[in-house]
Amino acid sequence: MNLILMGLPGAGKGTQAEKIVDKYQIPHISTGDMFRLAIKEGTELGKQAKSYMDQGELVPDEVTIGIVRERLSKGDAQEGFLLDGFPRTIAQAKALEELLGDMDKSLDYVLHVDVPQEQLIERLTGRRVCPTCGATYHVKYNPPKQEGICDKDGSALIQRDDDKPATVKKRLEVNIEQTQPMLDFYQDKGYLAKIDGDQDIDQVFEDIDKKLRGLSE
Ligand code: ADP
Ligand code: ADP
Repeated sequence: MNLILMGLPGAGKGTQAEKIVDKYQIPHISTGDMFRLAIKEGTELGKQAKSYMDQGELVPDEVTIGIVRERLSKGDAQEGFLLDGFPRTIAQAKALEELLGDMDKSLDYVLHVDVPQEQLIERLTGRRVCPTCGATYHVKYNPPKQEGICDKDGSALIQRDDDKPATVKKRLEVNIEQTQPMLDFYQDKGYLAKIDGDQDIDQVFEDIDKKLRGLSE
């Protein structure tokens, strides 16, 4: 199954992605994660991406499309994939169509996790992540068993710099502007599936899973 996960920051994409890949065994392809890893490892790609990311700007399409092309050609993506954080521009969406066409593939769903804006600020400022395995928690809505410690590997949880209250509002504004054209694009193509993200984490997954079960039947 070939999927895209969309939604504003804090909508629960990372949280749902963990559950989807766990159940359906497809790779979670997050361009943000790939860039962060490249920066940590100090690769050429990391150097290219860092200055844009530090300023909260998009990495140029050319670079971004290049890494997605490379990733989708790997063996583990041949039975399906879950794209997260890509596409972010119409140029990227069109490039993806072309790429999939060349590989004789097509999308199944663009899952849009929809959450009212007021909720997003609380979700983002309460988010804590594991620097080792990437697992996501929330101080109130999804706390780890032991405060500040990752359930999976015992690492000390951290808050992302861009989740601090000062930057959250700005990020949301920028993202709303960017996301709407993508939603319109996929709505027109008939791929869009709106998911009510303003429910318990497990209920959101149940709604997503209902759609996905339909695909594997
Ligand atoms: P956010 O939660 O801010 O959306 P992401 O982890 O998705 O964070 O992305 C972090 C940064 O990585 C973005 O601000 C941007 O600089 C870069 N990035 C991620 N995905 C893309 C993309 N599809 N196109 C361009 N830049 C991207
Ligand atoms: P995204 O990847 O879309 O930015 P995350 O999955 O990281 O979003 O979720 C943002 C924050 O909100 C995290 O702290 C997460 O634990 C929490 N969260 C995710 N889904 C829900 C939900 N359905 N209800 C309450 N909190 C949630």
